[in-house]
Amino acid sequence: MAETIKFKTESKKILELMINSIYTNKDVFLRELISNASDAIDKYHYLSLTGKDLPRKNDYEIDIEIDKKNRLLKISDNGIGMTHEELIESLGTIAKSGSKDFMEKIAKLKGEEAKDIDIIGQFGVGFYSAFMVASEIEVNTRSLFDTKGYKFTSKGEDSYTIEEIEKEESGTEVIIHLRKKTDEFDFDKYLEEWQIKDLVKQYSDYIRYPIKMETTKREKTPDSTDEDPKYEDVKSVETLNSMMPIWKKNKNDVTEEEYNEFYHNKFYDYKDPAMHMLVNIEGKLEYTALLYIPSAAPYDLYSEKYEKGLQLYSKGVFIMDKCKELIPDYLKFVKGLVDSSDLDLNISREMLQKSKVLHEIEENLEKKIVAKLESLKKDDFDKYVEFFKNFGLHLKFGIYESYGLKKDLLKDLIIYSSINEEKMIGFKEYVEKMPKDQEYIYYASGKSKDAILAMPQMDLVKKHGYDVLILNDNVDEFLMNILMDYDGKKFKSINQGDLDILDKDEAKKIEELNETKKPFLEAMKNALASKVSDVRLSKRLTDSACCLVSSDGISFEMEKVLAENPAGSDAKAEKILELNPNHDLFKALEKLYYDSPLEINEYADLLYDQALLMEGFNLDNPVEFSNKMTSLMIKALK
Ligand code: ADP
Repeated sequence: MAETIKFKTESKKILELMINSIYTNKDVFLRELISNASDAIDKYHYLSLTGKDLPRKNDYEIDIEIDKKNRLLKISDNGIGMTHEELIESLGTIAKSGSKDFMEKIAKLKGEEAKDIDIIGQFGVGFYSAFMVASEIEVNTRSLFDTKGYKFTSKGEDSYTIEEIEKEESGTEVIIHLRKKTDEFDFDKYLEEWQIKDLVKQYSDYIRYPIKMETTKREKTPDSTDEDPKYEDVKSVETLNSMMPIWKKNKNDVTEEEYNEFYHNKFYDYKDPAMHMLVNIEGKLEYTALLYIPSAAPYDLYSEKYEKGLQLYSKGVFIMDKCKELIPDYLKFVKGLVDSSDLDLNISREMLQKSKVLHEIEENLEKKIVAKLESLKKDDFDKYVEFFKNFGLHLKFGIYESYGLKKDLLKDLIIYSSINEEKMIGFKEYVEKMPKDQEYIYYASGKSKDAILAMPQMDLVKKHGYDVLILNDNVDEFLMNILMDYDGKKFKSINQGDLDILDKDEAKKIEELNETKKPFLEAMKNALASKVSDVRLSKRLTDSACCLVSSDGISFEMEKVLAENPAGSDAKAEKILELNPNHDLFKALEKLYYDSPLEINEYADLLYDQALLMEGFNLDNPVEFSNKMTSLMIKALK
């Protein structure tokens, strides 16, 4: 008895979108079905190698059959098959994990934009892509763990049926009833041998199991002669794919397009990767790795659900999908696979994950990736900048989260914009360009170059022509604290601690002034006692009246970042108000102090609030600030 089951709502919507084709490249359905078949054989093979009493097979294959008369296309495999539950679980639910994101993405992409985008592969809704070309799909399957087989049938509308069937061998057969030819699309093309051969070559050549199909060739008949040539159609079973995994092929025999195509299929990214690398290690530890760096951050990279990891193979046999032991956290955006001959298939996954081999491979790959990035930075800086915009933050975290352990490995990969340079710049280049008298590597946190150039703390730095790195990731200032120095040059914030860039005589003058102006400065300090730890004369201001700086330790930027952190921290920067003794305002205030000492408090507050605003802080009491400003304006305008 066949039972009829309704698709889950979400699945139904996706099916509709799929059928009414938001997607133009219908050809990919074949690659999706073949890759499912190959996965199913992988699973069987893996179990047969590790399980005790499974029959080992040596005739794994994927078969394609064209039935022109009935307009059917069959794709079958002798892999692991599906149980009744698995059928419902796998084919009754579309895109189990990604469905929500999928819907959201599609909602945004409908229409023109969606045209060339490989949404299907991207979200692993592979099987359903077959409904783009099928008016009905039958799936006959028998699980390795079941004595019975099942037939799944669906027209891709709102339900499917499942019934019990006899099936001799474990495995799955997908039968596609091709849609009728329309004005827009000729579905009959999938009944042409040459077309199927082409598609397999194009999309599925690397599949490690033979993809076989009966093909027809026109050959001369045995009684054919040169004078009287006669031909007949000869049928024979042909293997359509070369079966050599792409990572086993010689680099020089594989084109960039082929590496990219493999990436699209394997890692569900419709964009070409930014780059790939083939690593071949021989010796004590032997492995091959094919790694890719995506050209854009995967949409879910920053979600908790994102799983890092590389695919793991042992001598060409697939072992697991996202083996996280193969790649450090900060490189989690790297996609790819590792095939090693040093892994014992018979050990459990738990043991495997603890294995030293994996760790050794991880360390090794990390170095290779870093080296590759270094050479990209050297050889194609623009491309590197592109990469860095996508993933630079991860490299910063690599240094930060290792508490600096990886600082020497990664510091040369970090780049920043700067006030003097058009392009981004690394520390090495920065140091090379430093004028002789410059002692520190300066940095400033700010939203843009203009915002930083306008900061009062920049007065003298600008006069000297020193370059200043522009920091705008939350982690940046913490990173500077961990890096501490580069090539012996200390990192220094323009608004933190002392900034001694005055020449000696000038500096001495300021120090002397600090003494003579002490009463006034003390009065200011008292007025702001709850807010600042000191009020002093500045060695960094030339044009501006005042600025706020922090003492070494927690910086303003850190205070802001920590306050944003949901884990909560109310760590505060120690604030110091610096005044410019050469500014008219200073002179006026000092005079006021001597004429009418009580009035100084209100001005001190105003000055402080202004300085806070310039540092991008919110005022505790903006209304009070505004009231004070208003009364001041009235006074001035009277
Ligand atoms: P994906 O392959 O990305 O998981 P699909 O929609 O293509 O998504 O397939 C869903 C699931 O159905 C697969 O994960 C697998 O468990 C099962 N499946 C599909 N085709 C086969 C097959 N030929 N043999 C065994 N299981 C299959």
